[in-house]
Amino acid sequence: MNDTSKAVTPTNFIRQIIESEIADGRHTDGIVTRFPPEPNGYLHIGHAKSMCLNFGLAEEFNGSCFLRFDDTNPDKESPEYVESIKSDVQWLGFKWEDCLTHASDYFPQIYDWAVELIKNGNAFICSLSADKIRASRGTLTEPGTDSPYRSRSVNENLELFEKMRAGDFPDGSHVLRAKIDMASPNIHMRDPTIYRIRHSNHHNTGDRWCIYPMYGFTHPLSDAIEGVTHSLCTLEFEDQRPFYDWVLDNVTISKRPRQIEFSRMSLDYTIMSKRLLTTLVDQNLVNGWDDPRMPTLSGLRRRGYTPGAIRDFCSRIGVTKNEQQIESSVLDNCVREDLENNAPRAFAVIDPLKIVIENYPKDQVEQFEALNHPNFPNMGSRQVPFSRELYIDRQDFLEDPPKRFFRLAPGKEVRLRYAYLITCTSVIRDSDGEISELRCNYDPESRGGNAPDGRKVKGTLHWVSIQHALDAEVRQYDHLFQDADPTAVHDKDLINLVNPNSKTVIKNSKVEPGLIDAVTGASYQFERVGYFCVDPESTSSHLVFNRTIELRDSRGKKMLHEKT
Ligand code: ATP
Ligand code: MG
Repeated sequence: MNDTSKAVTPTNFIRQIIESEIADGRHTDGIVTRFPPEPNGYLHIGHAKSMCLNFGLAEEFNGSCFLRFDDTNPDKESPEYVESIKSDVQWLGFKWEDCLTHASDYFPQIYDWAVELIKNGNAFICSLSADKIRASRGTLTEPGTDSPYRSRSVNENLELFEKMRAGDFPDGSHVLRAKIDMASPNIHMRDPTIYRIRHSNHHNTGDRWCIYPMYGFTHPLSDAIEGVTHSLCTLEFEDQRPFYDWVLDNVTISKRPRQIEFSRMSLDYTIMSKRLLTTLVDQNLVNGWDDPRMPTLSGLRRRGYTPGAIRDFCSRIGVTKNEQQIESSVLDNCVREDLENNAPRAFAVIDPLKIVIENYPKDQVEQFEALNHPNFPNMGSRQVPFSRELYIDRQDFLEDPPKRFFRLAPGKEVRLRYAYLITCTSVIRDSDGEISELRCNYDPESRGGNAPDGRKVKGTLHWVSIQHALDAEVRQYDHLFQDADPTAVHDKDLINLVNPNSKTVIKNSKVEPGLIDAVTGASYQFERVGYFCVDPESTSSHLVFNRTIELRDSRGKKMLHEKT
């Protein structure tokens, strides 16, 4: 890796809290954090923020971070999601070592704690329907009403709970509720449900259980079991913190975690809701979870975004409690900076236009040495073949150019990078009047691309030799959504918001012959065009490249092949 910058981790309020606790003599055994995805979809870039925070703090403060699958909802979870999450965490460069757990690993212990709550009069079996429970919850301004089952005796509750567990009741017939306060100003404290009946097969526990603890109950208990010191979650859980603490206050635990909230990250032109991402996949609006337009880590990886760039991005955006809507250019710049330093260069002609160098010997082939990186000689060089017939990019020629057009035009001279200076002598058209070919002459004295007499030649073009070129399919991407903030969208409207031009496939591109050996996932800078990476569908007989991102010149302007 060529790293030209020195990474400094910016501080944040959570880090400062931990530092001050350590200064007070706490956490002498190190801190413990956790990253707790629910395996009901693939991870996205928002999760990367949470991972960088949790794994990052553990690393920094000599602690550990659990990768915990929060799997309390058997109907929506699957082993496919579990596996994808594990591989994405590893890809980003985080290690869970022996800290890989599932909330479902703790079902027996959580059940015992539920029994403890019942025994102490802190939980009861409620036999109201889900609708009735909802209706009796009250509103933000009105208190709720007590369930008629709230005064059931401890013995009756224990007996019913045992029968729930034994499978004696159908789904929805009873729930276990915490007994707190139906008049609490915080709705989450109004006797929340903590266990429900669900006769479903669970990806981890199979048919062992037909009752499942609710997320809000499971989470603090899983944290306590793992000895988590800092349970970091997004702001929507702030209202649930009193319940989080209530659970920990009312069962026998030896370690006490603390919940701290931070704001969720949103990125322009995309969405982070797993429900909506699932809809995109299910409705075939994208080609699967790893479609390069998706904000998922597997999509970004396929697109050519690197783990280093994503971690750099997470570090730049920081962690606060303020709303965080990030412009897509912030992520793009991180990707560009990483690839600028690390992607080898190659020649590729996206939209080929044939040129014939009429004064170049017919059967001659020369090899020119091309640098793999202009700034890093350690990245080596390669030989690129040159011959009489070449392709250049169609956008590099204009028959009637405006003033400051430094590329090719009739009578104008340009440099073919690493090779020769050429001048366009004539334009040939096909029967439809389209330009099909250019005729040129070269200056044999300009080998390497330098004018023998020192004359100034401004334009430099990339090229490939026709007889040596490989065919390639190039897929270019734009924003998935037309709207910068599609977050408020409903499922049924999703289709209308998807950018119809978000994917363009170009089938007849030409690349230099050395790319025959390009391996899946490898990134290149196609000189003057952009950063590209090899798609998993690519084979040596059918090369496929995804455009990761276009180049920017020093003024931030878009380069070739961009709509402006
Ligand atoms: P859903 O879209 O269904 O609400 P989720 O985003 O809550 O799902 P989880 O699998 O529960 O998904 O998330 C795992 C962890 O990642 C949680 O701690 C969550 O707070 C964090 N996380 C999820 N999305 C973001 C985001 N956009 N920004 C920061 N952290 C996030
Ligand atoms: Mg969640």
